[in-house]
Formats: sequence, C-alpha cells, structure tokens
Amino acid sequence: MIRTYIKLDNQFISSIPSEQKHLADVLTRFLRTLGDATVNHSEMIGVSDEELLAKGDRDFYYCVCPYCNQQSWRLLSKGDSVESNGHVSCPNCTETNPYDKIKNALDKARTLEDIADKTTDETKRRVLLEQCIVVIATAIEIFLRDAYSTIMNLRYVKINQTLIQKFLKDSRNEFTNIDRARDRFKTDLGIDLASVMPKDKIGELILLMAKRNAIVHNNGIADDQFLRQIERSGNTQGMIRTLRQEYKRMETIPISVDEVCIYLSTSHIYSRKLGEVFDDEYRKINMDYLFEYLRDMYLNKMF
Ligand SMILES: [Zn+2]
Repeated sequence: MIRTYIKLDNQFISSIPSEQKHLADVLTRFLRTLGDATVNHSEMIGVSDEELLAKGDRDFYYCVCPYCNQQSWRLLSKGDSVESNGHVSCPNCTETNPYDKIKNALDKARTLEDIADKTTDETKRRVLLEQCIVVIATAIEIFLRDAYSTIMNLRYVKINQTLIQKFLKDSRNEFTNIDRARDRFKTDLGIDLASVMPKDKIGELILLMAKRNAIVHNNGIADDQFLRQIERSGNTQGMIRTLRQEYKRMETIPISVDEVCIYLSTSHIYSRKLGEVFDDEYRKINMDYLFEYLRDMYLNKMF
C-alpha cells in the first residue's frame, strides 16, 4: 500500500534515534504550536486556517507530494486513515497517489467482468471483456509510469520544484511494454521488478498488454505485432507452442471470463507488492525532507 503520508504521533517521535533527540524536541514543540489555533503559522507551513480551527482531537501527518514535490502538514480526526478521510488528493496539485488510481480502476474492471459473466448475449460479453482488458492494462501502465515518474521526481528534483510533466512525457508509451518498463526501473532507479513478480506473472502481463494493444489498434484481431509480442510472454518452449496454437494470425483474439479474473487477481496482488516497494522509496525520501525541515527549524531556533 503506497503511503505518501507520515503520521507524526508519539510512536513516531519516540522512534527518532537518541542522537537526534534535539530534532524530536523541535517536532514536539512544533506540533504543539500547530495544534494551537491562536498561533497563525498557516502561511508558512501550508495548513489551512479551517484545519487549525477544527483541530479538536486530531492527528498530524507530514507529506511531500511525489507529483508536485510540495510539502504539506495535514490534520485528520484520530482513528481515520488518510484514505478514508478523503485526503488522498494533494491539496496543492490535486493528484491522488498511484496506488489509489490502480485500486479504483481494478474495482471498475471487476464490475465490468461481473456484468460480462452474467450476460447471455455473446456480442455484449465480448465488448465488456475487451473493455476489461483495456481498463486493467491501462491501469497497470499508469501505475508503473506514475510510480517511475514520481520516484524520479522525488529522488532527483529539489523540494518545492517539480519535473513530473517531463518524466511523464519522456516515459510515454514505455510502460505499455512490460520489458521496457522493467528496463526503465532497473536502469534509472535500481529497482528490479522481477524481484517482486515471478516470471510466469510477468508473462501474464505481457499477454495482457499485447491483447490491449490489439483491441485498441486492430479491432481485437491477431496481427503480426500481437503474435511477436506474445512470443515474449511464454517462458518455456511448450508454452510458446500452446500460444501459437491458441492465437491464429488474422483471427479474433479469444478472451474468456476466467482469463480476465486471472488478470484481475494478478494485477491486484502485484500492485500491492510493488506498492510496498514504492512505499519504501516514498517514505525514505519523505523522512529525509522532514528531518531537513526540522534541522532548519532547529538551526534557526524557531522551535
Ligand atoms: Zn501535489
């Protein structure tokens, strides 16, 4: 689960190593001031007056948005998760995090698959299953592209500045191809997607992406490009032979309800697993920025 927020509770403060106790003290004093509605620090830290006034029984969160690189401090009711409180969107650039996007898209695809499974009309079923493929494949593409671009943005661009549009633009179409996506992560970020996903699951995604491309670009007909792409999805000679028998040149590509269920399950499981890897990245970088901020306040004797 990707979390771009760090909860600043007592447990977090007591986890700060003793050699940085002075920063833990600065944070405690700072949070106390933030919680005091009579002190107006809203401009400096990006917390709205409404939030300060509604402080009540609240928890504080720190976040550096991976899209716009702006830091913000949020106040949420105790016991509410960041997600359930509707604070998933960045207050500065309104982006939601990559994990929320894929989760929502997969939920929608599941609804489509459910309708496809119930209909007795073959034409309608085909249309719905094709749309399932398009929605799932696009969700994976956007998930990987957003994760890649946001980690690049957090790692290599200064806080409060962003090159997210450049990273997104430069990687356009790169993530419709799972092999190229793996290369990008490995070469630019040192993250090996294969360490999280077994080979057969990567093969499944290659097939899913190839079907999506054929549906969008060639009426769902097995063209030469599709046949070339699916050769990459077979891990063994036996599997490649089966694929060749199943998908015939210039014929409509078969799609079954069971197959869509497998894509949904794989995408769900591995987006969570990959989400944990990306989560570590976000957290590591957010922690660095948070401590830099605290150090700054300490040196300037602000708290
Ligand atoms: Zn933002």
